[in-house]
Amino acid sequence: MKASTSATATPAHNAPLPPPSVPSAGRSSRIAPHSHIKGLGLTPEGYALADTAGFVGQKVAREACGVVVDLIKSRKFSGRALLLVGAPGTGKTALALAVSHELGSKVPFCPMVGSEVYSAEVKKTEVLAEAFRRAIGIRIKETKQVYEGEVTELTPTEAENPLSGYGKTVSHVIVGLKTVKGTKQLKLDPSIYESILKEKIVVGDVIYIEHNTGAVKRVGRSDAYASSYDLESETYVPLPKGDVHKRKELVQDVTLGDLDAANARPQGGQDIMSVMGSLVKTGRTEVTDKLRREVNKVVKGYVEQGVAEVVPGVVFIDEVHMLDIECFTYLNALLESQMAPTVILATNRGNSLVRGTSDIVAPHGIPVDLLDRCMIVKTDAYSREEVGKVVQLRAGVEGLKLGPGVVEKLAAEGEKSSLRYALQLLTPASILARLVGRTQIEMDDIGEMGELFLDAKTSASLIGEGGFTGGNIF
Ligand code: ATP
Repeated sequence: MKASTSATATPAHNAPLPPPSVPSAGRSSRIAPHSHIKGLGLTPEGYALADTAGFVGQKVAREACGVVVDLIKSRKFSGRALLLVGAPGTGKTALALAVSHELGSKVPFCPMVGSEVYSAEVKKTEVLAEAFRRAIGIRIKETKQVYEGEVTELTPTEAENPLSGYGKTVSHVIVGLKTVKGTKQLKLDPSIYESILKEKIVVGDVIYIEHNTGAVKRVGRSDAYASSYDLESETYVPLPKGDVHKRKELVQDVTLGDLDAANARPQGGQDIMSVMGSLVKTGRTEVTDKLRREVNKVVKGYVEQGVAEVVPGVVFIDEVHMLDIECFTYLNALLESQMAPTVILATNRGNSLVRGTSDIVAPHGIPVDLLDRCMIVKTDAYSREEVGKVVQLRAGVEGLKLGPGVVEKLAAEGEKSSLRYALQLLTPASILARLVGRTQIEMDDIGEMGELFLDAKTSASLIGEGGFTGGNIF
């Protein structure tokens, strides 16, 4: 027997929250090769454990980074930066990512390369400012009331439309929702019926309806409804013995950069400020300083109300020697800003000309005023054994099987050239193996790779000091 309770949900008046912060394709592809890195792998006392958290070797650098993590956590690192120096492929990016993992699982990590600032369309300082804002997380906490259950009935109730003078219009819809406690009938606003039609909801679907916004979401079919869908973790969990009418605390992670972009969109974007209720859409297409200030103001207000929390992340600038004097000056100013993320810089250069100057030579091509603010950590070259361990780790993460002798062969290649070269051979070698119908990479595949591709040292020695002179270099 159906329960006769009815409830009226309010019409949708708020736009839904924007989708969670999704790293851009560029950023996620930069992080993907480091997916085996889970942290610095230190003991509670700060000592590096051998081969832990996906990290092999680099004991001193990991321990030094651990000290920096402690400084950041105790808020004694503001206005400063961590500078990682070491040869290519010695784990500088991996260390920066590990630092961000140590700061928390939802801490944004925004990697960029110094040369990215040079573009015909965007000012150099804008590129830096955007990277910094993408490294500031905003955690928005919302308590939502939702109706959730399996749809047993969908009955639009029609009424005469007094405005048009003829025809009928939907005045409300009865939705039957079945939960463990029985079936309830909800009398819902017509705007909700529209979203039910839009979502193509039918009887037998399991849905939830947000009480305040009327947003309707299908979370499965009734046959899958042995358990209930949890909005926060977005997974099925054992059906709670609750009522059809629940309160859910939803947490959404975005970045200041996401909020800037959402508000700069001319129309139709999911504008979080309409949720936050402060700004009017003005058809803006560009992220201006004024827009950023407005976003900051609204975020500040919500932080004060306890609705949002600021989660400072990590901005990582690889090849920092590629920045010029204008960028370095701006970087100094950004480091001073109140909402600055943790800044990690990396370079493989020694003394170099500071770009944008005609005669200033400085360590790592970084002006001394910025260098003064840096804690410098060096990464060491890897031994053959260490390269082998990283190769094994990556093969495991990528689901690649390695035949006898392959790890040793790749470790030797890595020791001769670089760890990155050894790792880069893995994927093409797996493609070669697949082409000949094998699921396992064998020594032959690595041998063939060596015939097809050159490592940097071999390539340079073949070309020689003078570079290409035309014709066949060999
Ligand atoms: P570059 O200066 O060229 O940017 P890098 O010093 O930043 O190089 P990474 O990109 O961090 O080097 O390292 C190359 C690859 O090796 C990555 O996949 C990284 O995750 C992995 N790697 C480097 N060092 C380690 C390590 N100690 N343990 C595990 N994996 C590592």
